[in-house]
Amino acid sequence: MAGPIQLSFVQSAQDHAQLPDSPAEITFVGRSNVGKSSLINSLANRKKLAHVSNTPGRTRLLNLFEVDNPKAKQGSGQLGPTMVDLPGYGYAAAPGQMRAGWQEMIEGYLLERECLEMIVVLVDGAVGPTKLDVQMLDWLRAGGLPHTVVATKHDKVKSSKRDKRKNEVAEGCDLEPNDIVWVSAVKGTGLDRLRGLVRTWLF
Ligand code: GDP
Repeated sequence: MAGPIQLSFVQSAQDHAQLPDSPAEITFVGRSNVGKSSLINSLANRKKLAHVSNTPGRTRLLNLFEVDNPKAKQGSGQLGPTMVDLPGYGYAAAPGQMRAGWQEMIEGYLLERECLEMIVVLVDGAVGPTKLDVQMLDWLRAGGLPHTVVATKHDKVKSSKRDKRKNEVAEGCDLEPNDIVWVSAVKGTGLDRLRGLVRTWLF
């Protein structure tokens, strides 16, 4: 089924233990500036949704959204499937101790959140995987955690260079080119494919 993913903000939390149980959850991770807020807003077809995650005070929290299933009966009062917007990692301005705190929060969430069906790892398609992205992928693989790589900013790669770039990004992530979902929040490229995947993970 096509169409935007309907998201409603539920709450922010400092620790995954504060989050309510969910029937199924996905999460988006990536370094700051990778295009995470833009992508979440585009998936939902909303301008300022993930903005809640970017407001001062919330950037370092787990931000929980409910994903509405248009087929589900309304009004059951129970929480539907959810999506968590994780803080961007590798924020250079953060002092070491604060960075360690985030890491603990993110790793704790990824390892212990039982309803987690898929971890969407965002890599900047125009820049390629950074050292931190590769570390994250290695860590997810070592832990056997389910993940999918999405490359952002497809429109920033010149069309003449796209094939080459797709191979480079795949190689940098130790994946096959077809394993990576390329998207552009600006042009809308790949959004329907990603929405379809989100629905298969959650519903
Ligand atoms: P976040 O820190 O990961 O939430 O990243 P943002 O969504 O705030 O985006 C970071 C920067 O990249 C902003 O200047 C965006 O306008 C830009 N950006 C995000 N997605 C795209 C995209 O698909 N194409 C282009 N050209 N720029 C993008």
